[in-house]
Amino acid sequence: AILFEVSRTTAINAYRDLEKDGYVSIKKGSGTYVRDRYSLVSNSTYEMPWPQLLRPYSEPSMASLMSELMVSNMLEDKISLDAGMPDPNYYPIDIFSNLHRDYLRRLDPRDFGHIPIHGYEPLRHTISEMLVSKGIKCHLDETIILSGSQQGLYLTGKVLIDPGDYVILQTPTYLGAIQSFQALGARVLNLPQREDFPFEILEDYLARYRPKLLYCIPTFRNPNGDVMRIEERKKLIQLAARYRLAILEDDPYSSFYYEDIPPLSLKAMDNYGGVIYLSTFSKILMPGLRVGYMVAHPSLIQRIVLEKQYVDLHSNNISQWLLDLFIKEGYLEEHLIKMCGIYKRRRNAMAEALNLSLASKLSFHIPVGGFYIWCSINENISSKKLLQEALKMGVSFIPGDAFYAAAGEDKEFRLCFSQHDEKVIVEGISRLEKAMGKLKKG
Ligand code: PMP
Repeated sequence: AILFEVSRTTAINAYRDLEKDGYVSIKKGSGTYVRDRYSLVSNSTYEMPWPQLLRPYSEPSMASLMSELMVSNMLEDKISLDAGMPDPNYYPIDIFSNLHRDYLRRLDPRDFGHIPIHGYEPLRHTISEMLVSKGIKCHLDETIILSGSQQGLYLTGKVLIDPGDYVILQTPTYLGAIQSFQALGARVLNLPQREDFPFEILEDYLARYRPKLLYCIPTFRNPNGDVMRIEERKKLIQLAARYRLAILEDDPYSSFYYEDIPPLSLKAMDNYGGVIYLSTFSKILMPGLRVGYMVAHPSLIQRIVLEKQYVDLHSNNISQWLLDLFIKEGYLEEHLIKMCGIYKRRRNAMAEALNLSLASKLSFHIPVGGFYIWCSINENISSKKLLQEALKMGVSFIPGDAFYAAAGEDKEFRLCFSQHDEKVIVEGISRLEKAMGKLKKG
């Protein structure tokens, strides 16, 4: 054996260094002990400076309000008229578990492995067939399955927008779209809400800023239920084609119509290849499936595919496989007919309750489809103040600011009627009336 002689001072210094770095602890009169793993971490003199490493980022203005609403949704007896979701009591869970049980053995095990980034091919076919009824004809290379349409919003922005580029939004509009575009550094140009489509403002933006992208929800818009008229759709396509403007048409709600069939989608009228159609199974079925899809020109789809590969390789195949079976067996059609009936009754209940008790205090108009009633307060009360009072009474909604890129009308708010039955909706509106009454007195 080779022995090295180490001086006492070197040994003591080595122990001191180990102590300084938190590997050992020295107890006077007792000895030196190796620390356990946990104390090694917690007593380290160094700490990872995460805030310094993160890229500059500004917290979205509505983030804290949204988390407050989430917490308040946990409260018992709380009536939530905020989140725009289908009613979970009607999720067709039994059908999905039966399909899973009955078909699992017939599935090729390879279908549980990785699949092409574009998505599960049988589902892509099924979706293109489904879209024919909406007037949309598409080839397979024009389709991609996404992990929710939210992913489509972000990826579209990612492949089209450079920081500082302009994006036109028809406002008020979906918060998730505003936040995605802003996160990518887009500058927002607003098309304000009016009885008619503000074409002269759009033309001015197009001539002055040459934006690449316009985002809109032409049918039963989130948050105000607005429907773009057929002549307006035609004119918008003409103008967009002339200026080489891409239109991102977000269409999660058009299957929920309670009066006449809505006008044809912009994509169905697309004669210049510039419309990017985005939809999802989150509203017509269940958001937890995380299945959305896009139909667009093959050149755009190819870039989206590339970008999606970096994010998640492909969307969940099990959801896609089940969904494909669900549609092919005819369950989706049945489900939609049932849900339209249910939501129509809920819309009517909310409209009637508002008309009876709040008609003089609020302005609103009854939507012919979708999930939402958009209200404007006639009195000198802000919607955020009203929300504070409403939460105390056990009812919630989303203040209008959330649907604008910059602070918007402080007196607007969105009510959602999809989540509760008629009785609960009527109780919710009665609580809202009490909250308004209290603020007026106060
Ligand atoms: N677009 C709009 C207009 C929406 O309302 C929503 C959901 N609230 C989404 C997109 C995102 O839906 P998904 O669950 O498919 O990501």
